[in-house]
Amino acid sequence: MSNKRFSLALHGGAGAKPGHDYAVEIAHMRGLVEAARDRLAAGAGALDVAVETVVALEASGLYIAGRGASPNADGEYELDASLMDGATRRAGAVAALQGFESPILAARAVMEATPHVMLAGQGAIDFARERGLAPVADPDAWFTRAGAFEDNHPPDSLSQSALPTGTVGCVVRDAEGRLAAATSTAGVFGKRPGRVGDSPVIGAGTYADGHAAVSCTGQGEYFIRAAVAAQIACRVRFGGQDLETAARAAIQEVADLGGHGGLIAIDRDGDVAMPFVSSGLKRAALLPDGTIVSAAF
Ligand code: ASP
Repeated sequence: MSNKRFSLALHGGAGAKPGHDYAVEIAHMRGLVEAARDRLAAGAGALDVAVETVVALEASGLYIAGRGASPNADGEYELDASLMDGATRRAGAVAALQGFESPILAARAVMEATPHVMLAGQGAIDFARERGLAPVADPDAWFTRAGAFEDNHPPDSLSQSALPTGTVGCVVRDAEGRLAAATSTAGVFGKRPGRVGDSPVIGAGTYADGHAAVSCTGQGEYFIRAAVAAQIACRVRFGGQDLETAARAAIQEVADLGGHGGLIAIDRDGDVAMPFVSSGLKRAALLPDGTIVSAAF
């Protein structure tokens, strides 16, 4: 049974540092939820709203994605992003993209202008240039390294049990009941050049079908190994689980494997789940009853 109510959730990453005041990020995320609510009320589709919201999160420089990115171990900014449209199951992604302001717009272009789902490295760069996407002329001046204070491990201390993280994402149910998910990240701090996490991997960091849409954040290696985003949709679709149960079970698998992180998920009734097994999860949501909620811990 479809209802006309719409809802959404967004996140600004699981790397929240206990004791830090995230008032600026929370006010920003709430503002984006209100803007998205107005767009949905005017009839905008789930995919458009998810992409617009992630573009704004990227552009803010407040989170470790888009402008807020931190560099890899070689000092280069390699960014990942993906999105999926639940109604059509079309998807697009870029991995290790360098030199562009909005990885999520590049991912959308992959979905819309190629027969492929993911482009990586130089191929992604060439494609983004071909599409005329906005370039970053001077990375050192452009990127804000938003999360540098959060957990900035030097590269030589990087082990799989200590991968500090930050990402942005959005999941939406529009008034027609369509679902969409979008995720964008600079990946874990001090990562090896060429390292790709879960964020651009459809089924791991991002997934949407007719039953659920999911965007993850945290130590991507674990989210890939647990196929977290697709797992949640499958639990709902084939297992008949409610969204909260499905989301909690999937994130618990990340914890059981030794990882940490969080996620946002939405189902076809517009219900929202935002569980995390990390110190925090910067997040905000518009619930189906119109309430807006937000928190960092
Ligand atoms: N999941 C991202 C990655 O592993 C990082 C993050 O969410 O903070 O690349």
